[in-house]
Amino acid sequence: MKNEIKSSKKQIVKRSWAEPYKMKMVELLTMTDRPHRLKAIKQAGYNTFLLRSEDVYIDLLTDSGTSAMSDQQWAGMMLGDESYAGSRNFFKLEKTIQKCYGYKYIIPTHQGRGAENILSKILIKKGDIIPGNMYFTTTRLHQELAGGTFVDVIVDEAHDPVSEFPFKGNVDMAKLQAIVKKYGAKRIPYVCIATNVNMAGGQPMSMDNLRKLRAFTKKLGIKVIHDMTRVAENAYFIQQREKGYDKKSIREIVFEICSYTDGATMSAKKDALVNIGGFLALNDWDAFEEARNLVVVYEGLHTYGGLAGRDMEAMSIGIEESLSDNHMRARVGQVEYLGRLMESYGIPIVKPIGGHGIFVDAKQFLPHIPQDQFPAQTLAAEVYLDSGVRTMERGIVSAGRKSNGENYFPKLELVRFTIPRRVYTQAHMDVIAESVYSVYQRREKIKGLKMVYEPKYLRFFQAKFEKLV
Ligand SMILES: *Cc1c(COP(=O)(O)O)cnc(C)c1O
Repeated sequence: MKNEIKSSKKQIVKRSWAEPYKMKMVELLTMTDRPHRLKAIKQAGYNTFLLRSEDVYIDLLTDSGTSAMSDQQWAGMMLGDESYAGSRNFFKLEKTIQKCYGYKYIIPTHQGRGAENILSKILIKKGDIIPGNMYFTTTRLHQELAGGTFVDVIVDEAHDPVSEFPFKGNVDMAKLQAIVKKYGAKRIPYVCIATNVNMAGGQPMSMDNLRKLRAFTKKLGIKVIHDMTRVAENAYFIQQREKGYDKKSIREIVFEICSYTDGATMSAKKDALVNIGGFLALNDWDAFEEARNLVVVYEGLHTYGGLAGRDMEAMSIGIEESLSDNHMRARVGQVEYLGRLMESYGIPIVKPIGGHGIFVDAKQFLPHIPQDQFPAQTLAAEVYLDSGVRTMERGIVSAGRKSNGENYFPKLELVRFTIPRRVYTQAHMDVIAESVYSVYQRREKIKGLKMVYEPKYLRFFQAKFEKLV
């Protein structure tokens, strides 16, 4: 990187971002050699989810539950009120969510999918249609298990890895109108929108789009439910890219986003900087009452929902920290740094660079491997083999099968390099990009995979593969 500080009259002074924290404890990493990694990846059936973490050097499998907590959060853990009912930490969490996000009623859950399960059971009837801005694995599965059918209404740009459209998370209002016309508003209990759409490569929705969605659905009595797992990252992009928001804080933007929705599911393991936790938030009392009743069946009493008091305390503090402008600039800045490096090596990545990771386009990287030989799964295994960097597949394996048994063939066939929050340094980013480049240089020699074991649900977690010869 050029860091120009010239002493001539015309000074060009570059102002870099840097981490708004310092380290007071470190975790040592394991370094392995290639023969060790070859054995490990074979044993794992070429599925990076099945590797042991002690065989991994830099772990970019996910940004879920992998963040580093602050000293404040760790101190908060000591303030856990582990009473079965009515824990002090619950009331603090409730207040924090009401203040930061504006939702009225809150139920803690063990993580995001716990909230999705309860929400889907309450709001979805058999035969219902749930439009959404691209599917998410667990979200769609819970909708289907509740008898609903997910329909993708994200803008076409989201499926195009080279489109530089700034708001690839947007709902295509024409697509949504067509769905309403086809099925009728009565069969659509809610539109499910994700902020900073994970499966599109960490791409934001615009505030303008949210406002339009709100206006359109309100007329029809259709709710808007918010998968707010990465809402702060979405707010950062609105601040950077949308007219009228450059002077607003992340905190203000997040609050406004939530105000256009009727409720939310949250995996606090992402933006909210904790290792475990989530919640369901609702503005409607009747729906909340039902959810509060159902949570007892699946998670635990409604004042702990599968969490310890200390977990709720750490979540409250993490939510506040996630809304800091300095935190978010460094967070997304680090992702961008890795993306720019990869671009400088000619690696095909999804553009614009997203909020929580770099998504490498495996179809372009390995054009000689057909999609049913799992190019993204193959590439993830090759990167691990090269350097011990663990990534994951987001392509045909993740997409799974339709209810009629046919494979989904998603347009995007990606390898996700997800960056945990506050965990790795810029030097780690250099090592990662160099490794991908090294695989890129020998890409033509790389062969695909065949699936030899396929679990019924969410197959990407546990499927096994063998190398084609
Ligand atoms: C992770 C995630 C979920 C599910 O949350 P868990 O905490 O993993 O159960 C739901 N939606 C999105 C967009 C996610 O990234």
